[in-house]
This record gives sequence, structure tokens and C-alpha cells, in this order.
Amino acid sequence: MTNQDRILLSSPHMSGNEQKYIREAFDSNWIAPLGPNVTNFELELAQYTNKKGASLTSSGTAAIHLALACLGVEKGDSVFCSSFTFIASANPALYLGAELTFIDSEPSSWNMSPQALERALFDASKENKLPKAIIVVNLYGQSADMDTLLNIADLFGVPIIEDAAESLGAEYKNKKSGSLGKIGIYSFNGNKIITTSGGGAIVSDDEELLDKALFLATQAKDAAPYYQHSIVGYNYRMSNVLAGIGRAQLQVLDDRVEKRRAIFQNYYKELNTIEEVHFMPELKQSKSNRWLTTLIIDPFMTKVTPFEFVDRMNQANIETRLLWKPLHLQPLFKHNKFYKHNERTPAVSELLFAMGICIPSGSNLTEENQFRVIEEVKKILAPVDRVKVSLNKIQVGQV
Ligand SMILES: *Cc1c(COP(=O)(O)O)cnc(C)c1O
Repeated sequence: MTNQDRILLSSPHMSGNEQKYIREAFDSNWIAPLGPNVTNFELELAQYTNKKGASLTSSGTAAIHLALACLGVEKGDSVFCSSFTFIASANPALYLGAELTFIDSEPSSWNMSPQALERALFDASKENKLPKAIIVVNLYGQSADMDTLLNIADLFGVPIIEDAAESLGAEYKNKKSGSLGKIGIYSFNGNKIITTSGGGAIVSDDEELLDKALFLATQAKDAAPYYQHSIVGYNYRMSNVLAGIGRAQLQVLDDRVEKRRAIFQNYYKELNTIEEVHFMPELKQSKSNRWLTTLIIDPFMTKVTPFEFVDRMNQANIETRLLWKPLHLQPLFKHNKFYKHNERTPAVSELLFAMGICIPSGSNLTEENQFRVIEEVKKILAPVDRVKVSLNKIQVGQV
């Protein structure tokens, strides 16, 4: 360990206005559960994403749970989900007793492969067991190839839930990421691009569906003069205090996107010259929010493995992280079906996991600390020895 401050992957970045909305909640005693901050944050989020409505939840995971429940997912139903993602994308399907099938990534977006999805849907329709929903994840701030995925899903009449927990503020063909599917979900967890310390949201154009989400999120109370319940409900609403933080955060979201993109650009400029480094691509006609700068270390070019890389960065007091371990490789899902991008080649998600890492990308990362990261990466991947070796080669060549 060095005695320099630890550089984190992505930490909360307040705008300075949060206290104002929190104070309003306190002054009016709208502490819990709902109140004007919730109502306004929902309106503002719906406006930002250009959707008919939004509903705030206690977490992104809760939002996915509600989305699946609203689409009628029940025990024994099938749900498709991107394999290359964080476990929270898939856990809610298990809460409902559904069976998950995982879909591989494709190389241009690292997100759901349309050709794998098509094969999976085709097989499911032959067995007369089409999924009730497809969860498409927009990883590390990058939108999936939504038009292609939507066209395929529409052919089979299956709705898409966009897990945009990591991609709020990103765009796909000038539309906000998370606004293209039947339902979009966001997360305001502490390490996301904006945060309420913990929270989430669902957005949709289907107002009936949003009403249902609200009903389920508030214990599914029937319209009766007493507490009557006919179906199972949840306690999943965001508090008015936390929604106050969200309002102030949403006001600076676009700045945060530009900041993270600038950090990516700086890393790209400084590190893309290292032969074994390949950065996550940006899909055509899309704009990533570059939530986390992620890169691949080509194992044919260096002996440094991602594990070693993370370890050595840690010794320099810099937090880095391996890419998500694909869900189809998780012990929890060892019996689940998985569809590869290309049946004849290794799974794209497995290759990404084996070679990739995330480096610090918080919008509050100083330029000085960006260069500390850059220097450390260079020390690990392009050490002076190698420069010497190549100089020797030149000399030999000259002789
Ligand atoms: C963070 C995250 C979630 C879950 O959000 P929480 O608010 O932490 O419950 C879901 N999906 C992805 C891809 C995430 O990164």
C-alpha cells in the first residue's frame, strides 16, 4: 500500500443542491413515506426520459421485480435475460419462481446478441414456451442494439424490459437509454452515475402498467374502506427524503455524463497506444454515458492477467474490478439454458470476463488522480523493460 489516498471506481458526487430538497422535506414534515419530492422527481424523470410516467422504488432490483410482476410473470414462466450482467438483473425472476434462459453478448456493444436471442426465441416458440419478458441490460453505460432486439422480440410478441441501471443519461438513436423497451428500469445506488444513496425507478408509456406497479409497490391494497388484499404486494416505494437527493442529482446528470465521457477520452488518449489494450467500443448511433471505463487486456500480447492487474492496482491504492462474471457461469444458474452469440466460437461474454477490467471513472475523479491511474496502468502493462527490449531489436536490425 502507498500512503496516497485510495482512488475509488465510482463514488457518490453531490451537486450541492441536495440539502435544499431534503430541508423542504423536513420543514414540511414530509419525511415518509411519500410527498412532493417523490411526485416531482417522478415527473422530472419521466420528462427527462420522454416517457408518459415514472414510478420511484426503493432500489433498481425492486424496479425489475415490479416490472416482471406487471408483465404477469409467475411461477414456472420463462424469462430471458442478458448473461453478461450483475446478478440483480436476474434475481427478481427467481423471486417470482420463473425459469431463466441466458443470452450471450455480441462484440459491437458487449450487450445482448440479437442472433442468440433469435435462436432462443425460435426454440422457445417450437416448444410452445415463449418467455413472458426479455431483460436486456445496457452495460457500463452502453446501450444494447435496441432496434434490432426490439424487431426480433416483436416478431414473437415478447415485451422487453430494459435494465438501464448503469446507462441513465446514455442515448440510442437520440432516445434516452431505458426508454426504448416496454418498461425501463434505473438504479440510484451509491456507485451509479447519479444516486439517492439507494433507490430505483421504472419508466413506461403504458399508464395502466405504471398504475399496476404503484399498486404492487404499496402492498396491493384493494379499493375498499378497510385493508383488504387479494394478491401479493410489496413495500417498494422510495422515501420523500431520498427523492429530494434524486431531484438535485437529476439536474446535474448531463454534466455527469460529459465528465465521465471526458475521463474515458483521457484514458483512451493515454492508454490506447499500448498494444494489448482495447477499450469497450461505442455502438454506432449511440452515446454511452461511460459509467465505467472498461478495457480488455489481450492475453496473446501480455502475461499480465486481469486478476494480477487488479491486485497490482490495489497495491498502488487504486480500486479496479474484473468485468461481470456471466450469469450462465454462476453456480446459482448451473442448470439454466444459455444461448451463445455464435454456436461455433467461444461465448463472447466468457471472453470479455476472462480479459476485461474496469478502471476508476467517477465524475469527481480529479485530473491528477486520472494520471495516477494512467501511470500505474503503464507501469503494469508497458513496463520499461519492454521498451528496452524493442530498442535492442532496433539496434540488432541496424547491424
Ligand atoms: C446496480 C444494478 C442493478 C440493481 O440496482 P440496485 O439499485 O442496486 O438494486 C441492476 N442491474 C444492473 C445492471 C446494475 O448495475
